[in-house]
Amino acid sequence: MATVELTLEGIDDCGACATRLEGVLRTHAGVDAVQVSAAGCALLVRYDPELCSPSCMRQATVLATLEFERDFQHEMLDVGGMDCAGCARTIERAVDRMPGVTFASVSFAGARLHVEYRPDVVDAPRIASGVRALGYDVPLPGDPPPGTGTGWSRGQRLTSVSAALMALGIVADLAIGRGLASILLYAAAMAIGGTPIARAGLVALRATHRADIKLLMAIAAIGAAAIGAWTEAALVVVLFSIGEMLERRAAERARRELGGLVALTPATARLRRGDADVEIAVSKLRVGDAVVVRPGERLAVDGTVIEGASAVDEAAVTGESTPADKLPGDGVFAGTLNTNGLLVVRADVAPGDTTLARIARLVVDAQARRAPSERWVDAFARVYTPLVIAVALLVAALAPLLAGVSFDDAFYAALAMLIIACPCALVLSTPASIVSALGRASAAGVLVKGGAQLERAATIETVAFDKTGTLTLGRPRVTALHAFTVTEDELLALAAGVEQGSEHPLARAIVGAAADRGLALPALEGFEATTGLGAAGRIEGRSVLVGSPRMMGIDALPAAAREALAELAAGGATTVLVTRDGQAVGALALADEARPQAAEAVAMLARLGIRHTALLTGDNRAVAETIAREVGIADVHAELLPQDKASVIARLGPGTAMVGDGVNDAPALAAADLGIAMGSAGSATAIEVADVALMGDDPRKVAELIGLARWTRAVVRQNIAFALATKLVALGLLAAGSLPLWAAVASDVGASLIVVANGLRLIVGVPRGRMRSLPILAVPERSSAEASRHEQHHHHDRDRCAASGGP
Ligand code: ADP
Ligand code: MG
Repeated sequence: MATVELTLEGIDDCGACATRLEGVLRTHAGVDAVQVSAAGCALLVRYDPELCSPSCMRQATVLATLEFERDFQHEMLDVGGMDCAGCARTIERAVDRMPGVTFASVSFAGARLHVEYRPDVVDAPRIASGVRALGYDVPLPGDPPPGTGTGWSRGQRLTSVSAALMALGIVADLAIGRGLASILLYAAAMAIGGTPIARAGLVALRATHRADIKLLMAIAAIGAAAIGAWTEAALVVVLFSIGEMLERRAAERARRELGGLVALTPATARLRRGDADVEIAVSKLRVGDAVVVRPGERLAVDGTVIEGASAVDEAAVTGESTPADKLPGDGVFAGTLNTNGLLVVRADVAPGDTTLARIARLVVDAQARRAPSERWVDAFARVYTPLVIAVALLVAALAPLLAGVSFDDAFYAALAMLIIACPCALVLSTPASIVSALGRASAAGVLVKGGAQLERAATIETVAFDKTGTLTLGRPRVTALHAFTVTEDELLALAAGVEQGSEHPLARAIVGAAADRGLALPALEGFEATTGLGAAGRIEGRSVLVGSPRMMGIDALPAAAREALAELAAGGATTVLVTRDGQAVGALALADEARPQAAEAVAMLARLGIRHTALLTGDNRAVAETIAREVGIADVHAELLPQDKASVIARLGPGTAMVGDGVNDAPALAAADLGIAMGSAGSATAIEVADVALMGDDPRKVAELIGLARWTRAVVRQNIAFALATKLVALGLLAAGSLPLWAAVASDVGASLIVVANGLRLIVGVPRGRMRSLPILAVPERSSAEASRHEQHHHHDRDRCAASGGP
């Protein structure tokens, strides 16, 4: 059986798509098992290589995707005008109930609606107009994005007019006593501020068959007016409107902050055409174009340097602020800052496919995904709100009869309960915090797939590291050659001849060593790589294997060769054996250095209380032990194949995170509770496969991420506890007989603002108290001018469920 990993690209809710694909692929000839990766965006397919090949699997995936792409369409729509987390639920429910819609999810923090629907029943414009009918702005793809509006919005004007009228009413009350004048002023304040609230509440009731916050507020205000509590009635409306306005502001601020964190590519690029440079829009750039980047400018493309030398600040992509030196041949990323030299860069991908664009899309997706604690809060609110409303009705109906309270008093208490029934602060408590934390992580070059993954990171107890490229630099050098039957040059040329087909770090080192000796590489035919073992190909008609001695079977080797290998390995080197037509012709020793930050990364984990760290490698035991000793890891698992790594992870138990390079570690990453791919900036698959992608190469970020996750968990718990406590106190005061309506509204509004503010601390703040000792991802500095430009960034391009495979 062989395994191939198929990545689903361009899918918003990979979960749903992947599950459907899984169903289709399972029935495909030769397929033995299909597994959806933890992140949901990749499928691991085990198949019989006699009956099917990776490329046939990929083709089957594409066909299957096309098939259900016809049946289900995905769309991401921006939604403007959401002023409370409750609105997100209302829209979600209303859209979900529309015929033809199979899935709807609204992120308040991201201000986006993700919808899946059957295009034969309904279309995007119809869904958008349904949401507009609820009172929100929904631009369709292609429309200009909803303006954040520099002036005052209509709602803000109404709120201030209504607040002013209410103030006049209070003045009239104080000056001439309660009379027609003050009642008219209060009534006007209510009508002007309250009509939009009541209307929105009614529309929502019709669309969702649920009473939402706005409807409850409107009923409370009208009820108060009915029993002559005019000041209260006006106060409810005014306080609620002001609260909504502030919440909206806070959400917009957070959105801006997050948008600013995902750095932006410039709008234009200087294209080199012959001798002249012309400025063109970035969207017009083609693959292969040469772009001139001056010092101080941000790069517009992902590409390769073809001329010049400079230090490039890659913080926007990798989160690492030490500039990296770039010379011709080096890869560079869009959005990074060219500091001191002039560079000419060849564009290697289209403008929409840059790493930065991919990151931006992932961040948006991550925000749209709901974390378990948020689901819990939602479920709680679904019970809590109707329950309190029911009790309110009972109080209004029965208290006058049974407890001998006056009807007005009972009715007033019932109105207060309607307000207490609003779960606003509770609903905001989780997303406000999680979205902030996700934003901070992405700014530091740590992409977390969603709130669920972030919450899981807080529970990690064991961290397993891959060796090559994760704890080591992944830049091995050939340190010794041991030729058995050929000359050293012949040995190296043979090995390099095969390895020219491989991307493995060892392969690159071997090819590099051959180049250093000025050896000409022989022609290679029929190249094939076996992950975790080695590579094979035909050279001059003879089959050559290059790889781990295990690949060839150590026992089958002549004693002299075995001795030579043992000698090379004893020095702590990775040994690679070369065979030709089954005969061992020589061995190479390669050495790789531990990353300078690796030991500190392990120490940081220990300081977080994570005592169990493990090293997993396909390399030989001597090398593994050497590196493990150097970085401070006691638990060493060596000579593993990629699938063995997955079973070691399973044995390490729940709460295990795996840190790997994302390509040949895919099964282990999928098996872990938290798969963390490192150095992902260059690799599209790594980002898709893992739960967390570290764009840079710094393993310390694993500890920092866990620190941030624990801090986030603490903030979420504080928020939930605070929101619940506010409600309990309000109910307690009401039971004790003294809770004015305005105080009920003010406590709800105040609590909402406080939980949002508390959540925003996670973006920019430093943890306090017990959390202070946590290592937390530092957010790289960015100028405010740049931050404000990011606002214009919008993505409409995730509307398709396309599949593409990649082993
Ligand atoms: P790690 O688990 O440390 O990341 P890999 O799984 O990539 O290492 O590889 C494990 C072992 O397989 C290597 O130590 C090497 O012996 C062998 N190997 C894998 N690919 C190649 C290759 N292209 N050339 C030579 N040896 C290879
Ligand atoms: Mg590796």
